[in-house]
Amino acid sequence: MSTPTVHSIKPRVAVHKFSSCDGCQLAFLNLGEELLVLAERVELVHFAEAGALDPDTEVDVAFVEGSLSTPEDIERIQHIRQHCRMLIAIGACATSGGIQALRNSANGAEWVAQIYSHPDAISSLERSTPIASQVKVDFELWGCPVSSSQILAVVNSLLLGVAPHDNADKVCTECKRRNLTCVMVSHGVACMGPVTRAGCGALCPSMGRDCYGCYGPAENTNTDALAAQFRALGLTPQAIVQRFQSINSQAPVFLAAANKVKTR
Ligand code: SF4
Ligand code: SF4
Ligand code: SF4
Repeated sequence: MSTPTVHSIKPRVAVHKFSSCDGCQLAFLNLGEELLVLAERVELVHFAEAGALDPDTEVDVAFVEGSLSTPEDIERIQHIRQHCRMLIAIGACATSGGIQALRNSANGAEWVAQIYSHPDAISSLERSTPIASQVKVDFELWGCPVSSSQILAVVNSLLLGVAPHDNADKVCTECKRRNLTCVMVSHGVACMGPVTRAGCGALCPSMGRDCYGCYGPAENTNTDALAAQFRALGLTPQAIVQRFQSINSQAPVFLAAANKVKTR
């Protein structure tokens, strides 16, 4: 993805929310002292969760959290795209449709009818889709949630006028760098690390548990080999499908891997 850079002395920044849990916006708020430094270097014109409200003003950079799930979402994302120079999608909801995209493979209307006493009051699209399905996205930060250090690295790159670094390597590489014990090799636990994008610092393996793929697909994945490994560990085809169909169920690589297991 070729990414434009920002050259304004003090770039104007907005943080927008779509269908999401707000967890990725918290990655900004959790920056702590760094947030104060950031506030000196950028002009935060819209960030509802932090108090700044001005969603319609032109900005240099728009960070967008959440998936597109309602007819209003489609109109709003187009408006945002027309009023920003650079759009950055943050988190699994914005990059792959998120956990709510599990409805894409189900009967969404049936689910709504089961949950809400007045389903007619719910106006949602049949599918939950990533931001890039409707507008041009300049850079994507994967993760559920993205980490504060990732956010900071992107903002610093933009302030320096260079394209943000896209780390599409695998979680296994972070495991190795940290000298962590491999839970799959040592404990026979089905781990998604070999096909999942790095960025979290191998958080789950560092706690002795498996990666469940929340950072989405890495580059050059071999999902066939991982599915075969999961079979060797005793997982049923349904369990393997569920490993690929989780937070990033609509990411094309994971969707194709799940469909392949289903048709075997
Ligand atoms: S990607 Fe995860 S943490 Fe971020 S908004 Fe979506 S559900 Fe929340
Ligand atoms: S624990 Fe998971 S992420 Fe770490 S090396 Fe093993 S398979 Fe890879
Ligand atoms: S190890 Fe996997 S599931 Fe855990 S935070 Fe990292 S990418 Fe997400």
